Amino acid sequence: MSAALNLINVSLEYPDGTSTLKALDAVNLSVRPGEYLSLVGPSGSGKSSLLAVAATLVKPTAGQVIIDQQDASALSQAERTSLRRDKVGIIFQQPNLLPALTAVEQLLIREHLRGRRGRGERERAAELLDVVGLSEAAHKRPHQLSGGQRQRVNIARALMGKPTVLLVDEPTAALDHERSESIVRLLRRVTDEFRTATVMVTHDTEFLALTDAVATMRDGRISRALVPSA
Ligand code: ADP
Ligand code: MG
Repeated sequence: MSAALNLINVSLEYPDGTSTLKALDAVNLSVRPGEYLSLVGPSGSGKSSLLAVAATLVKPTAGQVIIDQQDASALSQAERTSLRRDKVGIIFQQPNLLPALTAVEQLLIREHLRGRRGRGERERAAELLDVVGLSEAAHKRPHQLSGGQRQRVNIARALMGKPTVLLVDEPTAALDHERSESIVRLLRRVTDEFRTATVMVTHDTEFLALTDAVATMRDGRISRALVPSA
């Protein structure tokens, strides 16, 4: 099956005094639907930069980012925004939930802002809260939820737009071991069920066997290896 996410010779440079810093150096990566990839590497090696470029939030200095057969570099800014909205789910370390909204409202707000307020949206929100194990907490606000539950709302929210690509940056950094494991397992289940191409930046090397493959970044360069079976 063809890749849902394809990075071809992607480089990203930042000005650094009189020279430039290569945050990404000719990165090639492809992730298939239903594939769950771990991205590891030391701090500053370019992991978040890779996610930002893959999310089309940052334009690479060189190379192509292809999402679901569409080359983001060939698109206008408005077209890139709609590609991101339609195809990419983004989950950061901090859930960034709106304090005044309940869990189900966090899922619906973006759809509402796009003028979608139908029963379909409400049903999908309820279904996704069920998938992440939060049916009972649908009407709770962030301060009434644990850190792990807030991250689950974040994951459900990222799935509302039916993304083909799911980009996750250190989702467990603020969680204890047990909650971290359940989040990594949840992302496994979500990847299998919704066939997303999932890339997760992680420091939790003990959970790598729950993913399909591991890529390591070092100084902006990427290497990819298969996970040995646990
Ligand atoms: P990681 O997520 O692996 O810690 P990053 O992608 O955040 O790494 O950073 C990669 C390199 O790019 C680092 O040297 C970092 O300092 C640099 N960098 C990241 N973002 C910016 C920016 N907005 N401006 C300048 N340099 C940046
Ligand atoms: Mg980072």
